[in-house]
Amino acid sequence: MIIKYERSDSAQLSRNFRLGEFKCKCGKCDVVLVDTCLVDILQKIRDHFGAPVDIKSGYRCKSHNANVGGDPNSSHMQGMAADIRVKGIEPREVAKFAESIGVKRIGLYDSFVHIGSGVTKRFWLGHEGTVVDTFGAAPVRTCVVTLPVLKRGMKDETVAVVQKLVGCDVDGSFRPATEAAVRKFQEDAGLGVDGSVGPVTWARLLGV
Ligand SMILES: [Zn+2]
Ligand SMILES: [Zn+2]
Repeated sequence: MIIKYERSDSAQLSRNFRLGEFKCKCGKCDVVLVDTCLVDILQKIRDHFGAPVDIKSGYRCKSHNANVGGDPNSSHMQGMAADIRVKGIEPREVAKFAESIGVKRIGLYDSFVHIGSGVTKRFWLGHEGTVVDTFGAAPVRTCVVTLPVLKRGMKDETVAVVQKLVGCDVDGSFRPATEAAVRKFQEDAGLGVDGSVGPVTWARLLGV
């Protein structure tokens, strides 16, 4: 159920979440919409990891959503989504747990996870706020097969994701330094070492 609050309201929404954490970051709009189902999901995540959950972005009014480059139909505008970080926990672990408890809308980013309370299934992989690939109704653990096979010479948004994950300079183009970092990663992970990123390497990189 979506509840409409006034910005000036203060309320404890669950054991660990207060209304203030969901307010639009523009600081100017008057209302705050929060779906009780979203709060339930976040509380389950909080309980499971036993660690503080930081809400980077909760409710967004239309203009704030546009300012941050949100999808024009973003569920943040209905109070049905939150971008979160769980202290000390990798985003992909948070995404996997969310999937395991039946969350239908999950966006896995480098530094946070988008959790939506909507019921139409959609999982996606993002990078710095940009959607890199969408997986429709595929579960997170099988999404990786739809990711492109990356190798030296390629330029693609997903290259930046790989670079971030293997810890080399992030510039979105697959140069020898990236290949060397991929080889090192494959070696350390006990995978076949070929310096390209195919489904197996993607799966290991994403921990799925
Ligand atoms: Zn606003
Ligand atoms: Zn989001």
